[in-house]
Amino acid sequence: MLQYWFEFKDVQNNKMPCTKKTIVWNNKDIKIDNKTIFFRTWFDKGVYTLKDLLDKNLDFLTYEEFKLRYQLQTNFLTYCGVINAIPQEYKKAIKRKVARQEHLTQPWENLKVQTTKAIHKSFAKHVFEEPTTKQRLIANGLTPDQISKYFHLAFSITIEAKLTMFQYKTLHDIVFTKSKLFNAKLASSDICYLCSKTKQDVKHMLVSCPVVSEFWKIFL
Ligand SMILES: [Zn+2]
Repeated sequence: MLQYWFEFKDVQNNKMPCTKKTIVWNNKDIKIDNKTIFFRTWFDKGVYTLKDLLDKNLDFLTYEEFKLRYQLQTNFLTYCGVINAIPQEYKKAIKRKVARQEHLTQPWENLKVQTTKAIHKSFAKHVFEEPTTKQRLIANGLTPDQISKYFHLAFSITIEAKLTMFQYKTLHDIVFTKSKLFNAKLASSDICYLCSKTKQDVKHMLVSCPVVSEFWKIFL
């Protein structure tokens, strides 16, 4: 199993040479006497990755700290042997990666509880842009409160993703009707394919087309 994870990590490592999560055991880069290592007693106490050998400043634990943390009676030379076996590039990479991550810290990463909802909320707050149709709706007499309800409609009316997206597109007037496709030169005409009488825009497609109104009469 360990071997499997190591091989899996190895594939990943082609892109990311080393992280705190790099596994110590059976790692082809960490060898003593030219052999990879695996100490069952350390493993059983929870030593799996480089992180388990680091203190909070990302320095390797001293022999005393290591013994204290894991309550392990291990030989001083064995411990030093393992630490020395970890390549310098690994040690440098860990420090470098953390420095870079600190630099790239995003506002939502400072949230105490990093739930998906919390991250989404923070993200939405930073990137939210008002709908382009808002000014048009205000000009047509809608109050901000009504507009808010209007745009919530897509998400409260159904939980089915496809229908939600259709509702969303309708409200934002981005449904690809024949009229829109024709304007974008993606259709040869803008005439409704159901009644073949008039141009198909959103209003025609959903309400005024005679074929559609027949459907509404039966449905409602
Ligand atoms: Zn029609």
